Amino acid sequence: MSDNCLFCKIIKGAVPSDKLYEDDDVFVFRDIAPQAPVHFLVIPKKHVKGPGAVEAGDERLMGKLIRVADQVARQEGISQYRLVFNNGEKAGQTVFHIHMHVLGGRSLTWPPG
Ligand code: 5GP
Ligand code: ZN
Repeated sequence: MSDNCLFCKIIKGAVPSDKLYEDDDVFVFRDIAPQAPVHFLVIPKKHVKGPGAVEAGDERLMGKLIRVADQVARQEGISQYRLVFNNGEKAGQTVFHIHMHVLGGRSLTWPPG
């Protein structure tokens, strides 16, 4: 938990969100500015700044994010999607609590811009 972290506040409910899933370790909610018909974020409840701050002890938790992403994607009616982690401002990271974007519901081009 980090006091001035937006996503920690969302986990606590101090900032409202459109929640799709929650358990002891993971919280999932819709992105406020969706870039595809389905766009949600999968985050660990543990405050980790980003992919570059993942520690050895977090490996199981990070794997769980993928499993939950697939489960919620299917709940949302899609089985084809893109998973994205941005690490650092240059890569497009704006919130420094690690989050996996799940995007789908339309054809996605590659490479990204
Ligand atoms: P990043 O750019 O750090 O990879 O992704 C941050 C994401 O969080 C963005 O896609 C942005 O739209 C989303 N976001 C920022 N603030 C909020 C918020 O208050 N609520 C929700 N649901 N999403 C947010
Ligand atoms: Zn946080």
